[in-house]
Amino acid sequence: MKQVIDNHGRPISYLRLAVTDRCNLRCFYCMPEEGIKYVPKPHLLTWEEMERTIRLLVSMGVDKVRLTGGEPFVRRGIMEFLEEISQIQELRQINITTNGVLTAPLVPEFKRLGIKSVNLSLDSLDRQRFFEITRRDEFQKVWQTFEALQEYKIPTKLNSVVMSGKNTDDIIPMAELTREHNVSVRFIEEMPFNGDGAHEYQEFWNYRRILEELKKQYPGIYKLPDPPSSTSYNYQIPNHKGTIGIIAAFSRTFCGTCNRIRLTPQGQFKTCLYDEGVFNIKDVLRQGLSDEAVKQIIFEALQNRAKDGFEAEANRKVNLVSESMSTIGG
Ligand code: SAM
Ligand code: SF4
Repeated sequence: MKQVIDNHGRPISYLRLAVTDRCNLRCFYCMPEEGIKYVPKPHLLTWEEMERTIRLLVSMGVDKVRLTGGEPFVRRGIMEFLEEISQIQELRQINITTNGVLTAPLVPEFKRLGIKSVNLSLDSLDRQRFFEITRRDEFQKVWQTFEALQEYKIPTKLNSVVMSGKNTDDIIPMAELTREHNVSVRFIEEMPFNGDGAHEYQEFWNYRRILEELKKQYPGIYKLPDPPSSTSYNYQIPNHKGTIGIIAAFSRTFCGTCNRIRLTPQGQFKTCLYDEGVFNIKDVLRQGLSDEAVKQIIFEALQNRAKDGFEAEANRKVNLVSESMSTIGG
């Protein structure tokens, strides 16, 4: 296996694969209430096409994949797909991002398949606030998923988007979870992707402001070293079992070491969160090309990668970044 390097010297080792654009929640920062216009099934990558893409990317040095969506577990066949890709030898890590609504009963299977970690999205510990944010009354099921992940000792990150006027009162209760639980609670800056691109900020909670809030409550909070290509600034509160991360998603401070590529459910190959897709792998795969020919197309895309999110955004033909995260996968 030869490690593919992009035109800025960054090894590409991580694929984020959005397996569906459908979802059983309607988080207001991600989707409008009525949902987004779903892609018709024939326009979606099939499980077989996703598996072939993963195998090709693994042969180019990708060793980590994250399944995301939409909500990955609303697409039929996902557990069989997980079983298939868990057998790919050089794929060192399979991770999952889920909203947790359908996930609790699947956790024992995750353990058996060797899933490395799960990111569980949870923006509030308060059932009513959870409902206001997600427009669905499913807090209890998500919490059961958290408990199951703890029981089966699957490394877990709780992802919480910090939204002005919505859930800033949850910052401290979420941070408190790290006292007794071996969990990483990650606070994420809200990004202006909500399906219609029309969300206005009153006051923006950036990572500095989130950190100040934590410092007020926990003056002893200290910085941890950040792993390479980490998207979060990591901290720990003295004597707490878990850790805290803050993700400057909107401020885009992490582009310099970015090792990741993304695939949308309809096969758009994205070399940056902020680009509009540089080619469509579904169209390429359906032309009947050889593995080598497909790899060459991928390689060329990686030799034209934007330096950072600002450059990628400037290169877009349609300038406004207004897609829903449910088609990008976060
Ligand atoms: N449905 C799954 C979930 O919610 O975990 C996976 C897909 S979701 C698009 C992935 C992540 O993107 C979630 O943690 C969600 O909170 C985050 N996300 C969605 N829209 C966002 C936005 N506008 N700003 C910041 N994060 C966002
Ligand atoms: Fe669904 Fe995840 Fe988007 Fe919420 S953030 S609407 S759970 S895809």
